[in-house]
Amino acid sequence: MDKLIHATAAEGTVRVLAATTTAITTEAVRRHQTSPTVSAALGRMLTGTLLLGSSLKEFDRLTTKIDVSGPVGGIIAEATAQGTVRGYVKNAIAELPVKQNGKFDVSGIVGEGTFYVIRESGFDIGLHKDPYVGSVPIVSGEIAEDFAYYLAKSEQIPSAVMLGVLLQNTEPFVSASGGVMVQMMPGADERLIGEIEATIGAAPHITSVIKEGAGVTDLIEMALGRISYEILDEMPVNFACNCSHEKAIAMVSALGKAEVAAMLKEDKGAVMNCGFCNETYRLSESDLQAILDE
Ligand code: ZN
Repeated sequence: MDKLIHATAAEGTVRVLAATTTAITTEAVRRHQTSPTVSAALGRMLTGTLLLGSSLKEFDRLTTKIDVSGPVGGIIAEATAQGTVRGYVKNAIAELPVKQNGKFDVSGIVGEGTFYVIRESGFDIGLHKDPYVGSVPIVSGEIAEDFAYYLAKSEQIPSAVMLGVLLQNTEPFVSASGGVMVQMMPGADERLIGEIEATIGAAPHITSVIKEGAGVTDLIEMALGRISYEILDEMPVNFACNCSHEKAIAMVSALGKAEVAAMLKEDKGAVMNCGFCNETYRLSESDLQAILDE
């Protein structure tokens, strides 16, 4: 099962978030039928969004979005405070040849563009504030570096971010996925920052340790080395969407009775597709008739 952990070190001046997301990325890839390079990009976005969301105090829903010139066109991921995440890409079947080093060309498929973070809060207590929207240019396209750049530039939090997706040729196609985010809060010791940077620089690739069975605490130790830490929170995380048959009916109903009557007469039903999770909802003749009878 996928997990997310939140820890602090050095008297709260260093914050560490880590997550295993193999099941989440597997589910996203299965639902959206993404090409290998797009699978890697989408898995990194979903993982980075979960990590970023869990580091925020005031948030109900965090959406990250890249709007880009590369073949993938764009990716959207949305995480909730309850540990669910969902996401989709504009062009699921975009693909590029693997790079000379054998890695997927994620930065090639992303290209240039803008990285957005949209934070919404207040739903739970009925006080919906205007969403906070931050944006920075895409600096790398490898996703992890783009999250780190956003944190440094827009939130003034120097960070190190590792995100990885390891694929295989046979179903379920994803063999490991996960990430670690280390955030330096005001007052963090320069020497400590240097030590963490060196530890991360020498760390093995995150997906290889997850594939070998590493859990979230192992990922924290991989980033912090010998520095001691305190666990604040650990929670299960999963891919989940809030769409439903009832919401599909409400959307069709919003089209107006004339439109619904035409659907009933001409199509004998209606088909709705949820972009976020690719679930299809089929409304029967009696579903449409019920809307008209309201
Ligand atoms: Zn959905």
